[in-house]
Amino acid sequence: MVDNLGTDEGSRILGRDAQRNNILAARVVAETVKTTLGPKGMDKMLVDRTGNIIITNDGVTILDEMEIEHPAAKMIVEIARTQETEVGDGTTTAVMLAGKFLENGEKLLDMKIHPTIITRGYRWAEEQAQKILQELAIEITSKDELMKVAQTAMTGKGAEYLKEKFGEIVVNAVDIVAENNQVNLEDIRIEKQKGQAIEDTELIKGIVIDKERTHIDMPKKVNDAKIALIEEALEVRGPEMEAKISVSTPDQLQSFLNQEDSILKSKVEWIKESGANVIFVQKGIDELVQHYLARSGIYAVRRVAKSDMQNLAKATGAKIVSKLSEISPGDLGYASYVEEKKDGEDGMTYIMGCKNPKALTILIRGGTEHVIDEIERAMKDALGDVAATLKDSKVVAGGGAVEIELSKRLKEYASTLKGRERLAVEEFASAMEFIPITLAENAGMDPIDVLTELRASHDAGMKNVGLNLFNGKIEDTLMQGIIEPLKIKTQAIASASEVAIMILRIDDVIAAKKMQGNSGKLGNMQGYD
Ligand code: ADP
Ligand code: MG
Repeated sequence: MVDNLGTDEGSRILGRDAQRNNILAARVVAETVKTTLGPKGMDKMLVDRTGNIIITNDGVTILDEMEIEHPAAKMIVEIARTQETEVGDGTTTAVMLAGKFLENGEKLLDMKIHPTIITRGYRWAEEQAQKILQELAIEITSKDELMKVAQTAMTGKGAEYLKEKFGEIVVNAVDIVAENNQVNLEDIRIEKQKGQAIEDTELIKGIVIDKERTHIDMPKKVNDAKIALIEEALEVRGPEMEAKISVSTPDQLQSFLNQEDSILKSKVEWIKESGANVIFVQKGIDELVQHYLARSGIYAVRRVAKSDMQNLAKATGAKIVSKLSEISPGDLGYASYVEEKKDGEDGMTYIMGCKNPKALTILIRGGTEHVIDEIERAMKDALGDVAATLKDSKVVAGGGAVEIELSKRLKEYASTLKGRERLAVEEFASAMEFIPITLAENAGMDPIDVLTELRASHDAGMKNVGLNLFNGKIEDTLMQGIIEPLKIKTQAIASASEVAIMILRIDDVIAAKKMQGNSGKLGNMQGYD
């Protein structure tokens, strides 16, 4: 859909055509995600060539899965990614703003205003917007307020009717891993389990690994777990190795098998000698070894993902052992118990009471994969928002309130300017209204009525009035607990204006030879200043 750049080898698009073409492509991307904005936004069903389906409301997921070829459109997708990594939420907002900045910029181009003037005006507006945002931000301190941030993030994402419960999970999880208000989101493990209902989703103060014990004769639960993390395969031959043996007599065969047997037995002996009673193995475990381990009362899990091994190391204090012959008691980690539980379709291993009290897992349950995945995305948005809020404690009023106030104040600022840049600042200001307009539209409300009422309230000095989509009222959204981290807005505006400026300055698109190391990332497109 967004793929006809016309830059076949040797081709070139110049001047206004280049600009129009780029702006159009960027706008198409913004239009695509627009209908998902806000609590009443619709979902998209993404279907790939092999029939895999994703149903989502999440901007960055949609853009990541769409096959986008046009370079300007790719630059827009890149903002969504930046937003996702920097804040973890607000991707739709960022992309929509970029699209609107460009659409409005095009109006100015049509009026024969030079791109240099437009981009200068946009820069001024962006700087001013950042200042205004800081003024509008409110400090929050209580856990209750953080809960509101989490809930606002999850509104309209399939997790809606459980947002109180999920909000609590998110805030508690962040609270546990936070150190000096800094949160490394990688410390919060998310594990998914099909079976049961989404309300059975829970925060587990321990590590949950999506794997069963390898042999039914192994204990189901081990108290006082001494845990070994083993990198090497507990097999004679790795699956990757294919050994050829030639035996000519039954005796030879027997002695070969005995030899294999004793190698395997010695592996079990090393484990036993170390004192381990639970082992996690990154590779496979031979059946015979499983049998010996079971006889020794050792709980074993095989084919554990590398990332899980690292998580287990962090949680239990174990060292990952690469050569089993060198394992020592000092390599073992500790948990008060390890248990297999089977309450969904597959059994899972719970490692509880870990040495590191910060070890935790959010276990998302649900009936279908699609539901579970969408809950996971909602949960991640909320985790990002709560972490961002914890960092600087600053929030703004949601439901379009902050955008309307920004728009109003930017227009006031524009009126102090003399040159043609003033027009650009005005266009930047009106682009902000795209957010509340779309929130209203997606909820089936009349956008003009909503906008008019919002403007009137803000003109009367009520700076936190927005659209409350729980009840369809225009009211103080801050008071209603519809709040978002300041960082969502500062980041969205910064990157949206940056990319809009970059695209507006392009007046020549040349099909170049393959650039070295070019991955289509924004970083490679810089240097346009
Ligand atoms: P994004 O990808 O930009 O985060 P979302 O679909 O999550 O997009 O929508 C975010 C927008 O929805 C924000 O502008 C936020 O203020 C708004 N919003 C969230 N909850 C409500 C609500 N209850 N009423 C009105 N607006 C809301
Ligand atoms: Mg969001």
